[in-house]
Amino acid sequence: MNQKTLAVYPGSFDPITNGHVYIAERAAAIFDELTVSILYNEHKNATFSVDERIDMAREALKHLPNVKVDSFQGLLVDYMRQVKSRVIIRGLRAMSDFEYEFQIALMNRQLAPEVETFFIVTDPKYSYVSSSGVREVFHFGGTVQGLVPDCVFKKLSEKFNIKN
Ligand code: ADP
Repeated sequence: MNQKTLAVYPGSFDPITNGHVYIAERAAAIFDELTVSILYNEHKNATFSVDERIDMAREALKHLPNVKVDSFQGLLVDYMRQVKSRVIIRGLRAMSDFEYEFQIALMNRQLAPEVETFFIVTDPKYSYVSSSGVREVFHFGGTVQGLVPDCVFKKLSEKFNIKN
């Protein structure tokens, strides 16, 4: 039986950046299907609502036919079991990401031994790009063109009511 492998790329995506899009493209080229799943975390003060983040991610990833966008709450491993996926995708920018990611991957393995975390290394041109960095630079009038998809650039202009 030839079963399709569904991978899940979870994160805050507040908002999605070109670094995230790069990871999604790489993962979608390897796995049959990829779901980019946006974590709704009531304890984290997000800039964009989950619906806004979903809309931006859908627009930014529409060129990838085997990629879907979804959201989840609570434990990632519960969500993985719910959608019947055993592959978690995470992106690595620098050693500083590694420690945090390593800890989460081991915790998730403890909770769900059947689930595997796969790390994809970023393109060096996105190694300094983060959602929080993009929000801050934009807020203070810097340009983020080339670092985020066009739809995110538009949404940032609306949100902060500025044109950079
Ligand atoms: P989280 O809040 O779960 O860290 P993020 O949206 O910040 O969510 O990131 C989701 C995943 O994407 C993480 O694995 C993160 O390391 C990775 N990531 C974020 N920015 C980049 C980038 N520029 N290049 C590659 N991976 C990235």
